[in-house]
Amino acid sequence: MPSALQLPPGLDIGSLSRRRCLLALSAIFASTVTPAGAAEWKASDDPFTLGVASGDPSSDGFVIWTRLAPKPTQGGGMPAVPVSVEWTIASDEGHTRILRRGRATADPRLGHSVHVEVDGLDPDRWYWYRFTAGGAASPTGRTRTCPAPGAPSARLRFAFASCQHYEHGLFGAYRHLAQDDLDLVLHLGDYIYEGSSAGMVPRRHETKEEPVNLEQYRNRYACYKSDAHLREAHRNFPWVVTWDDHEVENDYAANLSQNRDDPAWFLQRRAAAYQAYYEHMPLRRASLPRGPDLLLYRRVAFGDLATFHVLDNRQYRSDQPCGEGRRGGGNMVPDCTDRFDPAATLWGGNQEAWLDDGLVASRSHWNVLAQSLMMAQLTNRNAAGRPVHWTDGWDGYAAPRARFLSRVAATKASNPLTIGGDIHSFWASELKADFDDPKSPVVMPEFVGTSISSRGIPYESTLKALPDNPHIRYFDSRQRGYARCEISRARLQAVFRGLADAADEQSSMRTLASFVVESGRPNLNRE
Ligand code: FE
Ligand code: CA
Repeated sequence: MPSALQLPPGLDIGSLSRRRCLLALSAIFASTVTPAGAAEWKASDDPFTLGVASGDPSSDGFVIWTRLAPKPTQGGGMPAVPVSVEWTIASDEGHTRILRRGRATADPRLGHSVHVEVDGLDPDRWYWYRFTAGGAASPTGRTRTCPAPGAPSARLRFAFASCQHYEHGLFGAYRHLAQDDLDLVLHLGDYIYEGSSAGMVPRRHETKEEPVNLEQYRNRYACYKSDAHLREAHRNFPWVVTWDDHEVENDYAANLSQNRDDPAWFLQRRAAAYQAYYEHMPLRRASLPRGPDLLLYRRVAFGDLATFHVLDNRQYRSDQPCGEGRRGGGNMVPDCTDRFDPAATLWGGNQEAWLDDGLVASRSHWNVLAQSLMMAQLTNRNAAGRPVHWTDGWDGYAAPRARFLSRVAATKASNPLTIGGDIHSFWASELKADFDDPKSPVVMPEFVGTSISSRGIPYESTLKALPDNPHIRYFDSRQRGYARCEISRARLQAVFRGLADAADEQSSMRTLASFVVESGRPNLNRE
């Protein structure tokens, strides 16, 4: 177990003043959490090469993260002993007014990563944080708390990003995102890619071997975090993250791999990948990996303005349908009845019930489903003109999708919408319980963001599919970038931002399209 702070029995926070409580907590850190010998470690090289991050904000705190790694892509380069790390929270960028400080342990069993859950702060404020270890200081990160539950909040701005193949391009999109005016960043998966590319690419992974064990996945995350624009985007905002497939392997489903590996072996690979994910993301203790399992679905509430229902589309899903005689993972298939198998699941029964309960209970004005995939049906045609569907996405799980979309109205959740990624292109759609029935009412809007750097899907041929998909109101796969949303009580505006030249790290960025959703009406309005 990592340096989880457990209050000793008998320490009743409610009976103590806040200051005495802080002193008591510091004493606990100093006496029991700091490992013997930890103070002897002295940094000879910068241990903060991976930067800092924060995430999962609440109204009184957030997680702050770093990982000590003086040799980032070579196993980290730390001695195999616990190391003490000091953290501070300040109310100013210059770090002169320090509000909180404490010690955490960078544990070698968790790759010397540090996840501190800070609480007791004021709502709706920006804060600055930093770490020191072995005489070295980290960059100063900036993060914020959410408005208090029930507090009327006027505005929320967030960006969502996904699909950042390191070899496909430089992260010019993050250069812009890092300078944007945002409260929050959502990452919707494919933070790393396990596979390397053939041919000419602008840069290479640390190795062309696919990671399968913990040290290899750690090195892969370190390779991605060697990008200064990505580190800067983390440093400036709290992030809320979920994954898609490439954090483990292309198109995996629960314990089933694309290569049809032995499921027991694949679960060991998944355990290594999930642990490395935890070690590199600003996640709370609730997401500590347990063997091959990691609890990632959760909610983040921004006052009463918005709740993010963060979903896990990979860990609990049933096998992609209609794959007999083919490779594992997704396939483009003419219709086969297994796509409509009511026993199929994408979220798993527990997560599906959790989402339903959360939508029923939500008092938020907007309810955002943050998940990795496009939910809208996308009907393509094969050479013979027959309709075909891609089975790794929601089209492979048409029954659970219809089950969910038929249920949304009954939950009475206010202003539901979904955001997604995965297919390296921008989409805006109006989701229906029955996409083939023109009279089926619009249930909620969907915005899918393009990739940060991963190559787009074919443009011309996909464009030809749009007449078969009248619920899709916008598509463009030619741009790399991200999406930005601004929410008020009256409306949501979603803006698609694209780089003029993705090959140029210094490229300008422009707005490709802008949509408005009025509160109380799920339809898309193009601006
Ligand atoms: Fe991707
Ligand atoms: Ca994907």
